[in-house]
Amino acid sequence: MIQFKNVTKKYGKDITALHDVSFSIDKGDFVYLVGPTGSGKTTVFRLVIRDLVPDEGEVLIGDISIGKLSGSKIPKLRRTVGTIFQDLKLLMDHTVMENVILPLQFTGVSEKNARQQAEEILLQVGLGDQKDKFPLQLSGGERQRVAIARALIFNPEVLLADEPTGNLDSETSYQIIDLLQSINKLGTTILMATHNKEIIDNTKQRVLTVEKGRLVHDRPSAHKKTTESKKEDEGEEKEKKEEAQEHTDKKKDEKKEEHETS
Ligand code: ADP
Ligand code: MG
Repeated sequence: MIQFKNVTKKYGKDITALHDVSFSIDKGDFVYLVGPTGSGKTTVFRLVIRDLVPDEGEVLIGDISIGKLSGSKIPKLRRTVGTIFQDLKLLMDHTVMENVILPLQFTGVSEKNARQQAEEILLQVGLGDQKDKFPLQLSGGERQRVAIARALIFNPEVLLADEPTGNLDSETSYQIIDLLQSINKLGTTILMATHNKEIIDNTKQRVLTVEKGRLVHDRPSAHKKTTESKKEDEGEEKEKKEEAQEHTDKKKDEKKEEHETS
């Protein structure tokens, strides 16, 4: 779904934000992008939404190399990839509802439909009864949820979350992660940046670690099935099916017998 092939990105001449970075994320995966401040996490996200183009290498979304994407196709890419920005980018003089439906302006969706769509998403993120509030009337966790709702408005295939727990206490952080996990379970591919070690130590998800612009570690998901365990599962599945078949056959025989004796 997301592929980086030997990507190097510089800011000006002197700052190499990413150096020869390669990784691939499958559709439906939940992956953490970890590294200290300044290691290049936000740069990865900006490349995924074609806010930046690589100096070297290639970024692919699906099978499209987005460096070559014409300007007119960028809006479509940005509907495929929803982003929760590090600084949220919420409009403080707009209500929760207005913030969430903002990306739908100029897309031809009627105000009524936009609101209906937003209502559903606000329920999904747990803000069903906060829609008329302004961002400053909300807690940090709730503001994060508004940004998540807005990122979901186009029902994107990929969701990028740039340090969504950065300013939150531990309990609220886990609530946000639970929410992202529930979104992932519905099929959305998620890439979440964090520099919170506690989150990483407690997760079974795949973890990509960047340091000084280099991908230094790729820890696979503990959930992901190895070929061996898949085979075992398939074996078990087969056994279960055979058992079920035996059961049905037996039932049939019994019925037959009943029929014959009566
Ligand atoms: P992270 O999100 O991990 O904190 P960034 O991707 O924001 O890292 O930054 C990577 C490096 O690039 C840092 O050294 C940062 O100072 C630098 N950098 C980021 N954005 C810019 C920019 N717009 N202009 C110049 N340097 C930048
Ligand atoms: Mg950042």
